[in-house]
Amino acid sequence: MNNYFFVVDIGATYTRIGLGSRDKLLDKKIFNTPIHGDEYTIAHRIYEELVKNYGEYLDEVEAIGIATIGPLDIRKGKVINTPNLPIHNFELLEPLRRLFSRPVYVLNDAVASVYGEKTFGLGRDYENIVYVTLSTGVGGGVIVDDHLLIGKMGNAHEIGHIVVNYDSEIKCGCGGFGHWEAYVGGANIPRLAEILANRYKDRETPALIEALNGKLDPPKLFQYYRRGDQFAEIVVKEIIEACIAGFSSIINIYDPELITIGGSLFLNNQDILLKPVIEGISKHLVTSKPLIRPTPLGEDVGLYGALALAINPPPKLLEIQG
Ligand SMILES: [Zn+2]
Repeated sequence: MNNYFFVVDIGATYTRIGLGSRDKLLDKKIFNTPIHGDEYTIAHRIYEELVKNYGEYLDEVEAIGIATIGPLDIRKGKVINTPNLPIHNFELLEPLRRLFSRPVYVLNDAVASVYGEKTFGLGRDYENIVYVTLSTGVGGGVIVDDHLLIGKMGNAHEIGHIVVNYDSEIKCGCGGFGHWEAYVGGANIPRLAEILANRYKDRETPALIEALNGKLDPPKLFQYYRRGDQFAEIVVKEIIEACIAGFSSIINIYDPELITIGGSLFLNNQDILLKPVIEGISKHLVTSKPLIRPTPLGEDVGLYGALALAINPPPKLLEIQG
């Protein structure tokens, strides 16, 4: 009997692995994503960790689902030129299929996550769903008319690079200017704060002093905000405005019934971010406002996405990777 699935969620900082059944995630482990090595290091580490932790289930494993940071070459099942990891290019599909002799499916993490939301989360009763992650970067996954959008390279709906300010000096990791991720991606927030700090130098608050040194990362920023730091309020306001522009664009483009939001930056600060964003989007919409909710799957949404993918690979992906 093939009752089990191996699942993997590769992030810029952590890689999560787990064991799943058809109904749920049964167990999970977490390790630091390797930062040194070649294009096979990450796949080999995933293989070792899965065998070490769940080797006794191996004979009963039906398939392996992988959600990963992008961008992807979906045909080759590999990550290419990812800006947020020191190993910029790495193979997944080929080595893991060879090592496990099982079907392996690879999708962008946010794309897998929306599939997980549809299968295991709040999306079960909806045909039009967007999942948004606010984390190191900003990513999205989209289901329209019950169809999971993938794209020619597996990078459809790179919503983090929606332009939220066309006349902006804020540079994105991709090289563009004024992108949503340039304002909200955790990796970019210290730089955003530094630029704003130079504009508001007269405030001289503790957050501003850290920002001038390029050290105001998201945990510090929100800590200062909660203490009532005036400069932290300015930065958070900028983040909220970028989110209002980004979410409005998504709603106008995809017309979803439901948007769920995950990612550590959002999940840790949803009490600050959610309400003003929901209120702020009204003035921009050409369609009715969808339900906007934190994902109930929390930090496991990527693993649930990988599980949904392993159990029931989308037809289009089967065509490409089957
Ligand atoms: Zn960008």
